[in-house]
This record gives sequence, structure tokens and C-alpha cells, in this order.
Amino acid sequence: MNKFEYLTPGSIDEAISLLVSHGEQARFIAGGTDVMVKIKEGKISPQYLVSLRRIQGLDRITFQNGELRIGSLVTHRMLELSPIIRKEFPILTDAVTHIGSVQIRNVATIGGNVVNAVPSADGAIPLITLGAQVRLRGPKGERTMDLEHFFIGPGQTLLEPGEMLLEFIVPKLPDHTGAAYVKHTRREAMELPLLGVAVLISLGGDLSTCTEARIGLGVLAPTPMRARSAESVLKGKKITEELLAKMGKAAAEECRARDSIRGEAWYRREMVEVLVPRMARLAMVRAK
Ligand SMILES: Cc1cc2nc3c(=O)[nH]c(=O)nc-3n(C[C@H](O)[C@H](O)[C@H](O)COP(=O)(O)OP(=O)(O)OC[C@H]3O[C@@H](n4cnc5c(N)ncnc54)[C@H](O)[C@@H]3O)c2cc1C
Repeated sequence: MNKFEYLTPGSIDEAISLLVSHGEQARFIAGGTDVMVKIKEGKISPQYLVSLRRIQGLDRITFQNGELRIGSLVTHRMLELSPIIRKEFPILTDAVTHIGSVQIRNVATIGGNVVNAVPSADGAIPLITLGAQVRLRGPKGERTMDLEHFFIGPGQTLLEPGEMLLEFIVPKLPDHTGAAYVKHTRREAMELPLLGVAVLISLGGDLSTCTEARIGLGVLAPTPMRARSAESVLKGKKITEELLAKMGKAAAEECRARDSIRGEAWYRREMVEVLVPRMARLAMVRAK
């Protein structure tokens, strides 16, 4: 493993200016569960690691007037144990509870998970389905964008040099909204997903008409994606088993599944067809 200098700035602006001044030789490090693996495997060899761990205020979860904010340094374990998340956003509990092991979840952050941008990132798929935005700060100032548009390819995002992810903002959801996520794996523990499926459903006053449907799919395509054609199957209609099956079929056709070492495209498509209706049913139970 190559040698590097470990820098510990105490503020966001100090961290950004360190990254800018050391340019390509520097990397941010949060929990280090992705960065350190890449360094050990010789995939990257930064001379400077700029730690975010001394920066105050980025490890908070706040829920006010229906809007959820999650700081980029919030760990998966903090999300897993948060009563607010469990009650109001159980889709996030579904996702983080099965990431790595407790030891990994204790240090690995939601910000690092998303910036790492691998197609199998469990944190990204439910956040996209919830309509999350990301707040970024860099040498040119701050900007906010939809998380859905943040990814441009495996391991690639729209982050500019020196830019830091500060927080995720989930706008208020309509009443009677529920959402659920499943990570489909070959075994229970310490496994990256073969595919990840998230579904959000909002119900009208009769509790049976779908006013909003969102489907988030991960691992299948090079970046996490929404299956918008499949979503339109349900929107504005009374939900029936027949329509749920139709939505699953439409999602399987839309999902851009690939072959990889963990699974073949045909199997992934079949599982999308099964898991989309299954998550929709759970989302409806939660919505009610
Ligand atoms: C044994 C093991 C099991 C795992 N299992 C899973 C799993 O089941 N599901 C899953 O999704 N992942 C899994 N992972 C991957 C990893 O744990 C997660 O992606 C984790 O959330 C990364 O967060 P981190 O804080 O450790 O990131 P780091 O390694 O610190 O950083 C990751 C990347 O993000 C950048 N970065 C970090 N924070 C910021 C920020 N705020 N702003 C800008 N850039 C930033 C870093 O420069 C780096 O490029 C596993 C890893 C291991 C080692």
C-alpha cells in the first residue's frame, strides 16, 4: 500500500481548499470503507487523504414540516437505528439494515455510498425513489440537484473537482404515501445486491386509487434508474392485482438489465417482474 498524508480539516471550507490545493493527488475520506479498499487493491494511490470526520454538523438527521435532511456523514448504522427514519421512511431502514456488517455500517456513510456511485449502492436507490436532492459545495459555491441526475456512469458523478456532498434533502411527501426497498442477494449476509428494487405509492382519499407511483431500480443499468413507463401503468388508477402484475412486467422490459459476475440479465429481469409488485404491496400497506 502506498504512503499518504492524512489531513484532518475542522470545517467544510478548509476541507474544500485542501482538496483544491492538492488537486488530483488528494481524495476526501469519510468512513473509508470504499477508499481504503481501493488503495489496498492499488486502484488509486492518493498522496493526501482529506478526512471529513472532524467537520461538525454533517452527521445530523432532521425532520421538520415533512422535509427530511440527512447529512452526508450520517452512517448507515445511524439511519438504521433512527426512530424517525423507521417510522417515517422505513424504505431507508430496509436499505441500510442489510449493508455489509454492523462494523461496516458503524463507519460507512450515506454520502460515501452515493459518491462512490457503484451500480450496487444500496443507499442511492431508495433516495432516488423518495425524490431526494443533493446539496453540494465547492470552490465555486453551493448548488442543489436531483439525486437522480447526479450519476453519469459506474463510479462517475457530476461532482466537480473539490466539490463536497453536504446533505440529502427529501421533500415532503403527500399524505398516504408508503415506500419499500428490497435488496435481492444470493445469501443473507455481507453480500452486494444482484438487484435492488424500490417502490413508492401514494394513495388518494379512498385509499385504493394510486395518485403517485415511483419505481427505483439498481444494479441493473450502469446507474440507479427510475422506471417511468412502468410507473405510468398505475398512476391515476384503482390498484388491482392485475395492474400490479402489468407494472412488474413493464418494469422488467424497461430495466436495462446486464449480465455480470453476480447474475445474468434474464434472471434479473424475471426478478424485477416479481419484486416490483411485491414492493408495491408493502408500500401500499405502509401508505395506509
Ligand atoms: C465488507 C464490505 C461490505 C460492503 N457492503 C455493502 C453493501 O452491502 N451495500 C453497499 O451499498 N455498499 C457496501 N459496501 C461499500 C461501502 O461500505 C459503502 O459504499 C459506504 O457507504 C461508503 O461510505 P464511506 O463513508 O466508507 O466512503 P469512503 O470510502 O470514505 O468514500 C467513498 C468515496 O466517496 C468520496 N466521499 C465520501 N464522502 C464524501 C462527501 N461528503 N463529499 C464528496 N465526496 C465524498 C470519497 O472521496 C470516495 O471517493 C461494503 C464495503 C465493504 C468493505
